[in-house]
Amino acid sequence: MTFNLTRNIFIIAISIIGFLILFFGISLGWLVLPSAVFLGLIIYGSATIQANFYGSVYCYGESIEKEIALSFDDGPNREFTPQVLSTLAQYNAPATFFVIGKNIQGNESILKQIDAAGHSIGNHSYTHSFFVDFKSVQGFKDELIHTAESVFNVTGKRLKLFRPPYGVTTPHLVKAANDLNYSIVGWSIRSFDTTTATAQIINRRIQKQIKPGAIILLHDTSDKTLQVLKQTLDFAKKNDYKIVGIEQLLKIKAYE
Ligand SMILES: [Zn+2]
Repeated sequence: MTFNLTRNIFIIAISIIGFLILFFGISLGWLVLPSAVFLGLIIYGSATIQANFYGSVYCYGESIEKEIALSFDDGPNREFTPQVLSTLAQYNAPATFFVIGKNIQGNESILKQIDAAGHSIGNHSYTHSFFVDFKSVQGFKDELIHTAESVFNVTGKRLKLFRPPYGVTTPHLVKAANDLNYSIVGWSIRSFDTTTATAQIINRRIQKQIKPGAIILLHDTSDKTLQVLKQTLDFAKKNDYKIVGIEQLLKIKAYE
């Protein structure tokens, strides 16, 4: 269900109840239920990237081949990104790195390494602020443009892929991304590698959900993710899954 449809149904429900309140004297309390449902759906739609609530988001490939893609958010990270790169190189596996603009300064050489190794780079906002979702359309555009410039200055490439911070979408965020011609990319498997206690639990979660076309969300920010990455790559190899770039899986371009 999309945002527009949800909003229209809400408006119709509120209008009917308003009419009944005015002309038939029913209790004002009847407004509570549709309002609560509407609010619940808005929260669900904003927090669930696969819901496509405000616009189209790529969350998995249509591939029926045993192909999956890996993505790493929140870098570049001085300590862990180079280790992720060397593990990927060992397995000859491509990945997409959704970088935070403010993390680029001082880590330009790491960004260059990502690019030189043939991995793709995506935009993951500039600040990744906890309050980023309250930004206006222009506020989101500034986030995207600022990061795109930082990446362009290092790699000479113009980004086309955008992953919303925290996977939260809002009407302003989607409009900003669409206006700037970004493809919004989510995931089909959230590893929760930043919050889950052990690599073992994360591995189980990932392996249970792997299927053709899957996009796995990881973060190049911890030692735990390195263990998860190795085991995911081993699992893929053992089960004949091929790791492909997100661009290939989704048949879209990473750069302009
Ligand atoms: Zn993030």
